[in-house]
Amino acid sequence: MKYILFFLIFFPVLLQAQYKYGLTPVTLQQYQQQVKGDPEKELVNLTSAIPGIVLDIRYATTNNFTGEVIYNLPRAYARKPVAEALKEAQEEFSKHGVGIKVYDAYRPYSATVKFYEVYRDTTYVASPYKGSRHNRGCAIDMTLIDLKTGEELRMPTEYDSFKKEAWPTTPVKDALIKKNRDLIISVMHKHGFRVNASEWWHFDFNGWQKFEVMDIDFEELE
Ligand SMILES: [Zn+2]
Repeated sequence: MKYILFFLIFFPVLLQAQYKYGLTPVTLQQYQQQVKGDPEKELVNLTSAIPGIVLDIRYATTNNFTGEVIYNLPRAYARKPVAEALKEAQEEFSKHGVGIKVYDAYRPYSATVKFYEVYRDTTYVASPYKGSRHNRGCAIDMTLIDLKTGEELRMPTEYDSFKKEAWPTTPVKDALIKKNRDLIISVMHKHGFRVNASEWWHFDFNGWQKFEVMDIDFEELE
């Protein structure tokens, strides 16, 4: 009895604590309702939608800036029009002999809150007051791989580097690295994305505003 009472008192407090930044994300039930009204809101599994796409979902491993496993499953989801645009980009990249490797795509809102609480600099992590475009299923973190060898192309920095070299506007001396960075940015811009000002690997889908912030984990989606 004591435990039940404890639970009844503290469970609502815990729920509120999770959303203490004044933003209430869409839950699974609300999402399912929204997709019925607007099929564009569907979160699409990128592995099924884009032939040949490669995943290296860093937040499902300890190989990320938090040093912790954040996701239970290594999955990449994005809203339907985002997945379609990315598929076209992948087709264009293939003409250059390269393909897409995704580090992160849709990210549940709870993960954004966690990142902020680990690293409170909103230059590099999204503000939990606004949420991330990843939370809307409208951002892709990615690099390019050589289609023959599967090796990553050389880029200015590692993924999730907090250095100024990660900014797309920072000059690059190495001609090959510059060429690779120009290629990823120009093809993604052509297909409806915009590179982030401090991360060469992060691309926002133009039109992300119409998609809500969600807090649905991968198990719930599947
Ligand atoms: Zn990102």
